[in-house]
Amino acid sequence: MSVLIFADQFQGKIKKSALEAVQYGAKVAAQSGTTATALVAGEVSAEELASLGQYGAQKVLHVADARLNELEAGTATKILAEAVAKENAAVVVFSHNFSGRAIAPQLSSRLKAGLVAGAISLPDTANGFVVKKNVFSGKAFANVNITSEKKIVSVLPNTFSLAPTDGTAAVEAFAPALTDADFRIKPLKVETISGEVPLTEAEIVVSGGRGLKGPEHWGILEDLAHALGAATACSRPVADADWRPHHEHVGQTGFTVRPNLYIAIGISGAIQHLAGVNGSKVIVVINKDPEAPFFKAADYGIVGDAFEVVPKLTAAVKKYKG
Ligand code: FAD
Repeated sequence: MSVLIFADQFQGKIKKSALEAVQYGAKVAAQSGTTATALVAGEVSAEELASLGQYGAQKVLHVADARLNELEAGTATKILAEAVAKENAAVVVFSHNFSGRAIAPQLSSRLKAGLVAGAISLPDTANGFVVKKNVFSGKAFANVNITSEKKIVSVLPNTFSLAPTDGTAAVEAFAPALTDADFRIKPLKVETISGEVPLTEAEIVVSGGRGLKGPEHWGILEDLAHALGAATACSRPVADADWRPHHEHVGQTGFTVRPNLYIAIGISGAIQHLAGVNGSKVIVVINKDPEAPFFKAADYGIVGDAFEVVPKLTAAVKKYKG
């Protein structure tokens, strides 16, 4: 019996959200006195693979096939099912990121394994296998007991801080039985979204709303994001009006982000917007209306005109960073 963790990569680098999943999986393995094995598909350096030991993986199964650099969910499910059998894995851990959301339900169906999607706690094994998750857009929690023999958990990104050690993992080549039919779906184009930092991985997010008046004013927001090394996001009406691309839209009907710092500029703070950002560790709101509802959810608020405040903030960040 073991714990298997899917550690997905982008352009040869293991994603931060996947490292969180590895660390979580290693803790689950330690709880039950078993071992943690990470699975990586695609071209990744031996050094990068071995570094998963820093997050608690004892072993890394590596499927070194360049055709898997951009992994399709059906193919990933097939590879993982074979790895589960090989490792006799009782628990499979994913990040609740793009790939985890696509693959975990398919694997759950194939293995007839119960799945908790978006876990925010380690399993309580004293009372079964009980995992906590957010429900109703973070307004409540549910404690879900997985009773099936095999169990799958996807871990909500930015929930568990990374604490790397100096461990290394043993890397083992893994060659699942793949055929040409497993590569029928080919991505035509892979783009890094939301500027310099992928939105759902970002530690800092700078987000704009209708208060910015039009797409031509996004330069002030991008300057601040650039100075902070942040991803950019927006409210839904902004994406609906094509001021910004839809992959920047956060909220109930968009992406959920949980960065360490979320800066909301000219966003009123409607409940549907808050649903996607209220897990952020620190929220800063810049709005000219002191009655804007967002201030109730803010850790820091600046009442002022974004066109005056944001450039000053950017200048201060640049000065601070030298
Ligand atoms: P507004 O509500 O127009 O607010 C603009 C704000 O900018 C105001 O507070 C104003 O005081 C401020 N402002 C104006 N000028 C300045 C200035 N110069 N400087 C500083 N501040 C200024 N919304 C989402 O964002 N995400 C979702 O996922 C989402 N899903 C939805 C799902 C449903 C079913 C429904 C019904 C709605 C959903 N919405 C969603 C829409 C949501 O209800 C709000 O309408 C939306 O979030 C408002 O966007 P906004 O804050 O950018 O615009």
